[in-house]
Amino acid sequence: MKFYRAFLLPLLALAQVAFCAEDYYNVLGIDRQANDKQIKSAYRQLSKKYHPDKNPNDPTAHDKFVEVSEAYEALSDAESRKIYDQYGHDGLKQRTQGQHHDPFDLFSRFFGGGGHFGNQPGQRRGHNVEVKIGIALRDFYNGHTTEFQWDRQQLCDECEGTGAADRVVHRCGACGGKGSRLVRSQFAPGMITQVQMQCDACGGRGKTIPHRCPACHGERVVRRPTTVALTIQRGMADGARAVYENEADASPDWVAGDLVVTLVEKEPSLDDDNPDRVDGVFFRRKGDDLFWREVLSLREALLGDWTRNLTHLDGHIVRLSRSRGGVVQPGHVETVPGEGMPRWHEDGDSVYHKTEFGNLFVEYVVVLPDQMESGMEKELWALFQKWRLKKGVDLHKDSGRPEKPVMHDEEHEHGHDHGHDHEEL
Ligand SMILES: [Zn+2]
Ligand SMILES: [Zn+2]
Repeated sequence: MKFYRAFLLPLLALAQVAFCAEDYYNVLGIDRQANDKQIKSAYRQLSKKYHPDKNPNDPTAHDKFVEVSEAYEALSDAESRKIYDQYGHDGLKQRTQGQHHDPFDLFSRFFGGGGHFGNQPGQRRGHNVEVKIGIALRDFYNGHTTEFQWDRQQLCDECEGTGAADRVVHRCGACGGKGSRLVRSQFAPGMITQVQMQCDACGGRGKTIPHRCPACHGERVVRRPTTVALTIQRGMADGARAVYENEADASPDWVAGDLVVTLVEKEPSLDDDNPDRVDGVFFRRKGDDLFWREVLSLREALLGDWTRNLTHLDGHIVRLSRSRGGVVQPGHVETVPGEGMPRWHEDGDSVYHKTEFGNLFVEYVVVLPDQMESGMEKELWALFQKWRLKKGVDLHKDSGRPEKPVMHDEEHEHGHDHGHDHEEL
């Protein structure tokens, strides 16, 4: 007896764990405040992940697939979700009396086909859909989570993809459900042939619908705006592609193809779309590097003593400056290391690697005044005149070109283009 009791307790504890179903919110990995969209999105992801077709070597995948399907059914319906929130699994059991839809039917309502995909022979696959989404440069820099809509063909909710208002579909009497008929035809006197023709009574489907669904007019599918979540990782390339497996147009006749989203850098703007008014409008991207054009006045270029504060794409300040005497040649390009784009990393932002950045290239444009106040012009003239006379100006010497240039006057007279005489020597 003693021996027996010692074993009974742990056994009971085990049994309890096994029978206690996992919380539906945990199954879908969502919190209790999740909205319909989040529930749908969780189902989409997890049902694909655990679909037995995709996990042929994992016997637990089927159970998980069923569990995800049950959790979705319970939480996607407002009434049953309320019951579940109040009374838990037991409350739901009383309501549905343990009845569940076939998890593969539910899967098929999302992704089309017969609820299966994978490598089954004869399984038709729908076309892929390509979408281009314009993304602001600052979203490529900072990373961003957004969503977009497109008109996706999906199985009609009203009739659950049957095309019938009462979900009753009959086998076509004319073709016996085959979708085609053999038609005898006489193509020459005395010569008769049998030709296989598509059944005109059912349009080749092999089924007839006595009461067409009013929502899809018996087509079984409808096109509806569908919202897709999109995550732009820091530093993703212009033209990067995100593939949503089996998220393209669905149909009962095929397994949905992939939705392929291409991220394209969009034209910058300074409107409400850009609440922080960052200077992104003036940055240009090339791979991991950024380019910026900065304008200097004649005085600044010649004498230095200036500061510029660039607001970067995340709002931080990059300071450009020269102290007095720091000459900047027109067209000079300054490299600011580490102020370019973040380099994309497949792990995203992670504690296991430091985000690296490309460079920022600043090109200086020097703007000379069109018109000068006459007093200033006179003083400047006088100043330059004074120093010209004192030091003399030798442009050739200043240019750093080789000494003793050889000039052949006759060649000039012959009209050859010798604009680069000195360099050629
Ligand atoms: Zn037919
Ligand atoms: Zn319908």
